[in-house]
Amino acid sequence: MLVLNRLWQPVNICTARRAVGLLFLGHAQVVHADEEQNFFTHDVNSWLEFSEQFDSAHAEVVRSISRQFRVPYIIVLSMFDRLPRKEVKFTRQNVFQRDDYTCQYCGVRHDTRDLNLDHVVPRDKGGKTTWENVVCSCIRCNTRKANKMPMDANMFPMRKPAAPKWRPFFSAGDRQSTASQSFHESWRHFIDLKPASVKLC
Ligand SMILES: [Zn+2]
Repeated sequence: MLVLNRLWQPVNICTARRAVGLLFLGHAQVVHADEEQNFFTHDVNSWLEFSEQFDSAHAEVVRSISRQFRVPYIIVLSMFDRLPRKEVKFTRQNVFQRDDYTCQYCGVRHDTRDLNLDHVVPRDKGGKTTWENVVCSCIRCNTRKANKMPMDANMFPMRKPAAPKWRPFFSAGDRQSTASQSFHESWRHFIDLKPASVKLC
């Protein structure tokens, strides 16, 4: 299930069980798109009612003795912070993802194998290995900049590096998880389903 926060931004993917749990606790509502891509929200009662009208042959449903319950594809949280806010881990892959596999000096998109991490302020000049000081760089630019300060090399990152605001849950390098997730068509409205990309802020 795709989980949206109160601002309708995607924050996570969770299991159907967790989504249904949040729904029954009143912590989330179902987001449902009709054929014209209009989005409606349902609380648990209206979703139960709505589930009854479904032709169960065409939708995934959970059945109890007397009712059928359609498995939702998208839920929106009714409160902030119902899910633990996770900080994006500082890793090589996540920096690549934040910078969209684009060298921050020449602006060219590259394969992972042609990319490096560059310390904007070099380590030997006190630069830290943090989101704010590390950018994605192609090997050529990385070599050209070497251990010079941006001013001295006249090379400045295209975007001021910063920690991503939320968790990148699809990763191009992470084919396995992509394969095991089934994306529902209606998610398209909220996230970019191209393998490499989730917009980070
Ligand atoms: Zn470059």
